[in-house]
Amino acid sequence: MRNSVKISIVIPSYNEQESLEELCRTTVSVLEKLNSQFEIIFVDDGSTDDSLEIMRKIYQADRRIKIIQFRKNYGKSAALSAGFAASNGDIVVTMDADLQDDPTEIPNLVAKLNEGYELVSGWKKIRHDPLTKRITSKIYNILTSFFGGIRLHDFNCGLKAYRSEVVKSIRVYGDQHRYIPVLAHSEGFRVTELPVKHHTRKYGKTKFGLSRFTHGAFDLITVTYLTRYRKRPLHLFGFLGMISFVLGTIISGVLTYQRIFEDKFLSNRPLLFLGILLIIVGVQFFSIGLLGEMLSSASKDTDSYVVRERLGFND
Ligand code: UDP
Ligand code: MG
Repeated sequence: MRNSVKISIVIPSYNEQESLEELCRTTVSVLEKLNSQFEIIFVDDGSTDDSLEIMRKIYQADRRIKIIQFRKNYGKSAALSAGFAASNGDIVVTMDADLQDDPTEIPNLVAKLNEGYELVSGWKKIRHDPLTKRITSKIYNILTSFFGGIRLHDFNCGLKAYRSEVVKSIRVYGDQHRYIPVLAHSEGFRVTELPVKHHTRKYGKTKFGLSRFTHGAFDLITVTYLTRYRKRPLHLFGFLGMISFVLGTIISGVLTYQRIFEDKFLSNRPLLFLGILLIIVGVQFFSIGLLGEMLSSASKDTDSYVVRERLGFND
């Protein structure tokens, strides 16, 4: 039976012991003013500091707070994913645990959601992060807008509000939390953004080092590929393979013609190697596409669709 909780707050947290109590206090006071039932789900992503003790204390004092503890550090995407699966609310709001996101924005995000959106993504318009991070983040946001098919200023803001259908139907793994709006948009959900306040990190330090940039780039490729070609990989690889194969065949054909009819020897024609290479690469691309089709047809979510509404069925 459906629980009557209306708003679920999901907070992934990794070694944020200094922030937890303050964060919890301010979030609860904001939610109480909203006058709707709520739950706050802390997902502890394998912290090695005193987070667990503090979370346990918070839980003992207020049973609207729930805790999920990972045995080891799996990453922010995994933490969000576990929180999404456990959430009971009609509306789910995510927030970072480091006090950089401001809980007073929750009512604004919810109000925007109620204008008819399924995902409202925070936009840290005035951002309190180091310059290098601000610049690279800007580049990433432009690239993601270009490849992701939806224009936003700030894809990777921790503060986001969702209708529960969104979090129950998208899959976030690896480091793909950076591209959640792209994943949601590709499933046909209405996505928008809202400027939110942002603070400097008060305690502790960032959990993502330089690897965030390389990982971010790989994940952008994965997300772009999966959202477009997951259900039809041969359309991409078959196309590339065809171009390569045809070019290779034309080159080899011309060289063969010249060898037979114009007596030009192949030993001093470097183009021969290009012809051979293009044919082999073409066949490889084709085979990869067919393998992709096999994986895709064996996967159970290839024929699953996100339905907005069903009318006239007795369910
Ligand atoms: N986080 C997590 N698991 C990780 C890394 C980070 O749950 O492996 C949490 C972290 O505790 C914080 C949020 O994800 O609540 C954002 O992390 P951080 O503030 O370090 O990122 P930044 O603000 O520097 O992008
Ligand atoms: Mg942070």
